[in-house]
Amino acid sequence: MNLLIMGPPGAGKGTQAEGMVKELDITHISTGDMFRAAIASGSEMGKKAKEYMDKGALVPDEVVIGMVKERLQHDDCKGGFLLDGFPRTVEQAAALDETLKSLSMKLNAVVNVDVPLDKLMARLTGRRVCRGCGASYHVIFNAPAKDGVCNSCSGELYQRDDDNEQSVGTRLKAYMEKTQPLIDYYKAQGVFRPINGDQDINKVLEEIMLAVK
Ligand code: ADP
Ligand code: ADP
Ligand code: ZN
Repeated sequence: MNLLIMGPPGAGKGTQAEGMVKELDITHISTGDMFRAAIASGSEMGKKAKEYMDKGALVPDEVVIGMVKERLQHDDCKGGFLLDGFPRTVEQAAALDETLKSLSMKLNAVVNVDVPLDKLMARLTGRRVCRGCGASYHVIFNAPAKDGVCNSCSGELYQRDDDNEQSVGTRLKAYMEKTQPLIDYYKAQGVFRPINGDQDINKVLEEIMLAVK
């Protein structure tokens, strides 16, 4: 199954993606995680991406599109994949359609996690991420068993550089301007699955699994 999960920053895409790829045994492709890995490796691409990410701006389309195109050709995508955080612009969505076509692949469903925008700031400023496996926690809404330590891999939890009020404000604006139009784009393709992301994490996953099966 080839899936896409979208929604505003902080909607719970990463959190849900973790549960979905376990249940469906498909490959998780998060462009945000790929950029953070590139930054950690010290690559040129990482350095360039970091300038945009820290401000909360989108990385230019040509950089993201090239990276995803290459990633989708890896063998681990043949058994199904979940794209998380891509596409974020109509240009990216069109490039994805073209790439999938050239690989004789298609999207089975687009999961849209919906959360009222006024709830996202608290989710993002309280987010903590595992350095080891990338799992997402929250200091109040989804606290780890042991402070600062990942439940699944015992990795160290940290706060992302871009999870501050200023950057979150810019990201929400970028979402409304550039990403929200994708809702109509995927509705027109008949693959759009709206999900209420403003409920218990496990309830959200249940709703998603019903919607994609
Ligand atoms: P995204 O990948 O969409 O930016 P995350 O999955 O990282 O979002 O979640 C953002 C923050 O909100 C994290 O701190 C996460 O623990 C928390 N969170 C995720 N889902 C829920 C939920 N259903 N209710 C409350 N908090 C949530
Ligand atoms: P969030 O959890 O806020 O949804 P991500 O981890 O998905 O954030 O992405 C972090 C940052 O990486 C974004 O704010 C943006 O700068 C960059 N980024 C990730 N995916 C894309 C994309 N598809 N297009 C442009 N920039 C992206
Ligand atoms: Zn971990």
